[in-house]
Parts: sequence; structure tokens; C-alpha cells
Amino acid sequence: MKALISDIHSNLEALQAVLDDIGRHNVSEIYCLGDIVGYGPNPRECVDQVMKCKMVLLGNHDQGAMFDPDGFNAPAEKAIFWTRSQLESSPENRQKREQRWEFLAERPRTFKEDGFLFVHGSARNPLNEYVFPEDIYNQRKMDRIFALVERYCFQGHTHVPGIFVENLPEEIYQFHSPEDVDHLYRLDGRKTLVNVGSVGQPRDGNWRACYVLLDGDLIRYRRVEYDIDTTVKKIYAISELDNFLGDRLRDGR
Ligand code: ZN
Repeated sequence: MKALISDIHSNLEALQAVLDDIGRHNVSEIYCLGDIVGYGPNPRECVDQVMKCKMVLLGNHDQGAMFDPDGFNAPAEKAIFWTRSQLESSPENRQKREQRWEFLAERPRTFKEDGFLFVHGSARNPLNEYVFPEDIYNQRKMDRIFALVERYCFQGHTHVPGIFVENLPEEIYQFHSPEDVDHLYRLDGRKTLVNVGSVGQPRDGNWRACYVLLDGDLIRYRRVEYDIDTTVKKIYAISELDNFLGDRLRDGR
């Protein structure tokens, strides 16, 4: 069984709670779909944890922290510059610092395995494209993205968990939230996009950390409580991180 995590965004309390939950299941491999850093207060610690995963993709915030951030709003950009300063000024030895930097720099944008595709954003634009639930009404967009998917694509980036399926021959698309399917969904051969949700900053109105267990063709959504007060306090204490970045965690927005 695999665990699929994404969009940790430097939220160490959420990541630790998810790793503990994973530890209580029979998981042999953890895949991370990107955005280890950005927004939250513990970029170094989160990179150190994620380095232990079997497969880790590059996210747009990870890229922004390493290179010139482009296309971010003001609080997100400020958080990215602060994140970069943290990664550059590690208190431990230089070797550790270089290890993290090298690890982030070497991340791939896509990963393919047994007909499964893994991306951060979308099959069309692995780093930056959002696929939101309401996009099922954007036939052109969905047609193009689904055309690039052999069968199953796992993604993150929107922080909104759920499942997109293609219904042939009508060529209409459906979206199922985890609640719609009682947190369990079996892949059935139709082309499917699975958004695994966000560990560190869920935006579906539920503050609990979200991730997915994948057992053969069975998808199980997990929601995990964590010590959100600690994370919010840390964010408040760092002037470069907007207080709103803490407040939104409580609302799951
Ligand atoms: Zn993200």
C-alpha cells in the first residue's frame, strides 16, 4: 500500500500527524506530490522529513523558493522569500544545508509508474495548472488534460481533494468530493484524476490534514487532526508570514 501526500507547505505539526497516521497503516511507500514549503513556519524540518519519501515531485512553491518566484500574490511571495532565507541560513552545518538545497533542485516534475501518472498541478502543466472541481464544466480544458492521461493521474496543487472521472461516450466529466464517496473510491478503468488534497493547508472547508492511501485500485481518503494552535502561533510570531496564513488554517480555506 502507498500513501500519497501533497502540499505540506512547511506545516510540521500537520506533516507529523499524517506520518504518524501512515505509520498505523500497512504502508510500504510514501509519494509526495510537491509543495513541501511555502506559507508555513517549518520549511527545513519539513524538507528533512520528506527526504525520506520514496518519490517526491517539485511543486510551484518549492521552485519559487529556489528560483525567482513568479505569479504569486504578495503574502505568498513574502513567505517564499522568507522560506528561501531559512533554507539558506540553516543553523546546523553547511552539509545539511546543501543536502536540502540539492534535494529540492533535483526534484522531477512528473513521475510515471504502471500506467499511473503523478504530477503537482496537471498533466498538461505539471507545475502550475490548477484543476478545480468547477472545471468539469470547462469541456475544452478537461478534454485536453484527460487526453494527456493514459488512465489514472494523481495530483495536488488546489488543496481541494476529490476525484474527476470521464464518462464516455457522452464525454461529460464528474467530480466527487471525498464526502460524496464516503472517503472510499475504487478506480474502475475509466480515465480518472485524483486530487489527494493538502496535508498542511486544506482548502475544502475542513481544517484536518488530508492525504490518500492507495491499495491496488482502492483509494482511501484520510483526514487527520493535528495541533493547529501550535502552527498558528508559530506563524503569528514570524513577521514575514502574514497572520492570515495562520487564520486560514482554522477555516480550512
Ligand atoms: Zn500548494
